[in-house]
Amino acid sequence: MRFDGKRALVTGAGKGFGRAIAKKLAECGAETFALSRTQADLDTLKSEVPSINVINVDLQDWDKSREEVGKTGHIDLLVNNAGVTVKSLFIDTPKEQIDRIFDVNFKGTFNVSQVIAKRMIENGKGGSIVNMSSIMSEKAVSEGCVYSTTKAAIDMLTKCMALELGPHNIRVNSINPTVVWTDMTRPYKKELMQLLPMTPMGRFPEIEDVVNTVVFLLSDQSGMISGESLRIDGGLCVH
Ligand code: NDP
Repeated sequence: MRFDGKRALVTGAGKGFGRAIAKKLAECGAETFALSRTQADLDTLKSEVPSINVINVDLQDWDKSREEVGKTGHIDLLVNNAGVTVKSLFIDTPKEQIDRIFDVNFKGTFNVSQVIAKRMIENGKGGSIVNMSSIMSEKAVSEGCVYSTTKAAIDMLTKCMALELGPHNIRVNSINPTVVWTDMTRPYKKELMQLLPMTPMGRFPEIEDVVNTVVFLLSDQSGMISGESLRIDGGLCVH
């Protein structure tokens, strides 16, 4: 898969999926912008792949994010990957936690997409956007209430964006992975392992499974797929 001549932006590219996706897109020839919150992560990414452009911004800051993302110029391929989670009972979750998770997972995606989609429309060459959702958009798990609702919101946002942006030749899809071991999930290993016996394929995906699916959805190989939420779950959600 080659993305020569394309310009890509990946959010949450300091660690986990986002870092691997940014590296893959750069390797496939895209002029790649990696946005994240911790400068040290961006520094090591830049030293590993010097061609990557890094953007240090906290997506919780709506105005600053618009300003920084606006500096990238035209983007053809957008991956809204940044996300945070919290383990909390519905009954006990304070407003600050709800605001923080929605600010990053949902409003961060909304905000960055608005800026980039406007540019895509003006540029007239179309584009492809992938939003990072989760199987938790459709599967309730204990103490995952706020995170799950942000991901359900992402799936609907994906459909709304696909509806509005399709006439501009901009495709929008989400991907919905099950558990993949990263900094986000490792602290919850004991609870999350309970999903393994329910997974028909008997294993969790690797980061590469996520990266490959993103690459497919960004590419012309998926040219008529839009508004889709694609599970990467080894069959877990057939239950
Ligand atoms: P990680 O925690 O490993 O990485 C998340 C990245 O997003 C980090 O670089 C982090 O930076 C960045 N980020 C978080 N908040 C902000 C912010 N406010 N502004 C800018 N960047 C931010 O997570 P994963 O790679 O595991 O997850 C990536 C995405 O995939 C998330 O949306 C997650 O919900 C989703 N997902 C993950 C699954 C999994 O099993 N791992 C399964 C399904 C979905 P920093 O560390 O500096 O905060």
